[in-house]
Amino acid sequence: MPLYEYYCSDCNGVFELLRPVRESSKEQPCPECDREAKRLMPLDIQTFTMRDGLPRRIPDRGTYWHLGKEVARPVNEAARAWEHPDLDIDPPMKPPTPEEVDAFNHQLDVDIEQEMEAAANGMQAIQPQKNLERAKFLERLVKTGGADRLRPRGADPSADSTD
Ligand SMILES: [Zn+2]
Repeated sequence: MPLYEYYCSDCNGVFELLRPVRESSKEQPCPECDREAKRLMPLDIQTFTMRDGLPRRIPDRGTYWHLGKEVARPVNEAARAWEHPDLDIDPPMKPPTPEEVDAFNHQLDVDIEQEMEAAANGMQAIQPQKNLERAKFLERLVKTGGADRLRPRGADPSADSTD
């Protein structure tokens, strides 16, 4: 008789049973709670279970799940949740240091001056990379609650580059 896997949603548990092929699709009583458990089909990937202390998606394909994403390896060492070698997850933002804010303000002054000069000469002053960096820094500053650390300024060309 082949071995089949069954899943009990009440216990969130998987168990295996030897069953004749013709009976394999029938629900089977869970050994823990005796409720009917459905057979796990190869495409059932709706549910998580814990194995070896790690969340695994059912049926277990030998992969692991990390922050809802499938990864090949578990994180064994004590790692911060967002750190996984298989995933490209942005770490939580740290508030910029006062030096970084100063450097940003200074760079902004330089950039604005250059952009105004370029504009005065009828040149296009679009610098996508700089605008992106600027927007990223501003986002980080705002998201870490440091919006008031920006030096107040009048016409800030970066003001409309964030949303
Ligand atoms: Zn059960």
